[in-house]
Amino acid sequence: MNTETKKETLQFETEVAQLLQLIIHSLYSNKEIFLRELISNASDACDRLRFEAISNAALLDKDPELKIQVEFDKTDRTITVRDNGIGMSRDEVIQNIGTIAKSGTQDFVDQLTGDQSKDSHLIGTFGVGFYSAFIVADKVTLISRRAGVKKDQAVCWESEGTGSYTLEEVEKEERGTEVILHLKKEEDELLNSWRLRTVLTKYSDHVSLPIEMHAESEEGEATEKWETVN
Ligand code: ADP
Repeated sequence: MNTETKKETLQFETEVAQLLQLIIHSLYSNKEIFLRELISNASDACDRLRFEAISNAALLDKDPELKIQVEFDKTDRTITVRDNGIGMSRDEVIQNIGTIAKSGTQDFVDQLTGDQSKDSHLIGTFGVGFYSAFIVADKVTLISRRAGVKKDQAVCWESEGTGSYTLEEVEKEERGTEVILHLKKEEDELLNSWRLRTVLTKYSDHVSLPIEMHAESEEGEATEKWETVN
């Protein structure tokens, strides 16, 4: 039996679980920073692919235009941030998302000032930005396929931000990473194109890649077409 395809449950490092709670509580009034952090990760992932592709052009495959896409679904109450960057293998997901590489939790805690605006800058400095997704989401799904890896060897990571997460081998057509935020009940106001575009414009100054959202019809309905918003 191939155990790799089974869904397994793993525990976060104790530090991660503590950090998650801390981030949720200390940064709530600055909650849009989750988008800044996810965009910054997506942008880094594209930079890393571009770098690796210098010595291995095949990694760019049939999808050479690096970009970030943001979309939302009012029915499912989700926001998705997608990139076609380097992606992560199963081991990389465990390493990067389940543990804190730089053991900076205590420093992070010590430096928190209680001023949510100042503290929101700390989160990027300490390499813990991904967890800011849990400020607005009560469940986060991350699906990733590393560049150069077969489509049936992608990985799906999912967590409710408590003590554990699940991992499962899945299929993913495209290279890169998709982060799906299942919003908390009270966060419906984020399911709004204008709102998301405003936040994206505010936080994407340093992002050179195109960030795309679905274009809207005159009636304000999302169309199939993508347009660049930054
Ligand atoms: P930081 O980005 O500051 O290192 P994060 O908690 O935001 O901290 O992310 C942890 C790690 O997870 C990143 O360093 C990166 O290796 C990996 N990661 C996060 N998002 C992505 C993504 N979209 N694509 C590839 N790797 C990612």
